[in-house]
Amino acid sequence: MQQALRMLEEYPLCDHCLGRQFALLGHGIENDARGKSMKLALVLSAHADSLSRIKGGKRILEILASNGFSKEAQEILQIMKKHTSSKNAEQACFLCKGKFNNIESLVERALHLLEAYEYGTFLVGIELPTASEECEDEFKARFEVHYGESMRNEFGRLTGKRIVEHNKKAVEFLKPEIVVLVNPFAETVKLQVNPLFVAGRYRKLARGIPQSKWFCSNCRGRGCEKCSWTGKMYSESVEELIGKILLDATGGLKTSFHASGREDIDARMLGTGRPFVIEVTRPQKRFLDLAKLKQNVNSYGKGKIEVSNLKFADKDLVRRLKKGESTQKEYRVLIEFENRIVAKDLKLLKERLANGVISQKTPVRVLHRRADLTRERYIYEVGVKKLSPKKAELILRCQGGLYVKELVTGDEGRTTPSVSGILENKAKPMKLDVLSVNMGD
Ligand SMILES: [Zn+2]
Ligand SMILES: [Zn+2]
Repeated sequence: MQQALRMLEEYPLCDHCLGRQFALLGHGIENDARGKSMKLALVLSAHADSLSRIKGGKRILEILASNGFSKEAQEILQIMKKHTSSKNAEQACFLCKGKFNNIESLVERALHLLEAYEYGTFLVGIELPTASEECEDEFKARFEVHYGESMRNEFGRLTGKRIVEHNKKAVEFLKPEIVVLVNPFAETVKLQVNPLFVAGRYRKLARGIPQSKWFCSNCRGRGCEKCSWTGKMYSESVEELIGKILLDATGGLKTSFHASGREDIDARMLGTGRPFVIEVTRPQKRFLDLAKLKQNVNSYGKGKIEVSNLKFADKDLVRRLKKGESTQKEYRVLIEFENRIVAKDLKLLKERLANGVISQKTPVRVLHRRADLTRERYIYEVGVKKLSPKKAELILRCQGGLYVKELVTGDEGRTTPSVSGILENKAKPMKLDVLSVNMGD
C-alpha cells in the first residue's frame, strides 16, 4: 500500500495502471478492480487519519482525489469543504493516457470487421508506441515493481476476453485463423487473415496442360498479341482449374499451388494422382464442404483434371511437399526407336536399368532456368513391353526427381546409362504418363 501511495504521489494513474503494478497478487481479479480496491483502502485509512486529526490524512485524500481519480476521496473532501483545487481534473493517466476507457469501442470495431469472415480461432495482437512501452519500463524500474504485468499483456487479455464474450470463438496462440491487430494508442483495428490450406491429390487426364500458370514469354504476363492478350502461354493449368473453384468457394484474394514435383506439360498424371496443397490468401469462408468442393472441381475440370483425398492442411505440409525428394514415382513411357528392336534388347534394358543408379546432368532443355548439376537417381523396378518392331513401352518405379525423357534419349551423353546408350539405338519418348507418386505416408 505504501508503494501504491508513492506511485500516486508522483503520477496520475487510472485503476488499470495502478492495479497492473500488483497484478500477480491475488487471483481471479482484474487489474482495474485491484487498483480500485487499493485506492479505496487508502481513502478509508486517510479518512480515519483526518478525522482523528492525524497529520497527513488530508494530504493523502487530496492525492487520491486528483492523481487517483477517486470519486470517494473527492466526496469526502467536499463534505469536509476542503476540496478546493480542480487542477488535475483534465489530466489523463500517466501510463495509458486513459486508453483503457476505449477498449469497448475497439472491441466493437473488431467484431464489425470480423463479421465478414468465417473463422473458428483467433488471437488479439497489440501494437504499442515504443515511447509508451519505454515509459512503463522506466516507471517499473523506478518503483521496483516485482508483481507487475505489462500494459501490452493487459490490453491483449482484456480485448480478447471481450471479443470472446460476443463471438464465442476460441483463442488460439500458435495457429490462429485470424489475428486482430489492435493499436490502443492510435485507436486502429486491423485484421490479419491467415491463409487456408487444402491438400489433396490431382490427376491430369489430358496432355498439354502445365501444372502452374505459365506467363507468356513475350510479354511476361502483361498481355500481347502473341498470347491473345491473356498474358499466358497456356490458357489453363492444373493450378488455375483447381484455384478457380476454390476462390469461388472461399472468396479469397488469390491462390498459390504447391505440389510434390511436377510432370511435363505433355505428360499425363494418372494412378492415384500427385499430392498437392493449395493455399488461399485472405479467405472469407473456410468452413468448406470438401466433398462438394471435390465435386465442383471435378465437374469444372472434366476430361482435364480430377482431384481426390481433399483435406484441410497447414503450412507444415507445404514444407514437407517441397522437400519431397524421398518420394517414389512410377512412370509409363512410350518409346520409338530408330532401328528395329528384338526380344534380347528388352531383356538387356531390364537388366541394366533395374536396381541401378542413373547419373544425370541437368537436362539441356531446362538448363536455361536450372543450375548445371549432376544428380543420381535410383531405379527400383523396370518393365518393358514390345508394341511393334520399332516401339516399346517402358514402365519404371524410381526415386523422385529422375528426368525420364532424358533417361530415354541419353540427352547427348548427359544421362548415363540411358535407353539409347544401352541399345546403341536412338530412342525417342513419344508419350509419358506418371502412374503414381508415393510420399510414403
Ligand atoms: Zn492507465
Ligand atoms: Zn504475351
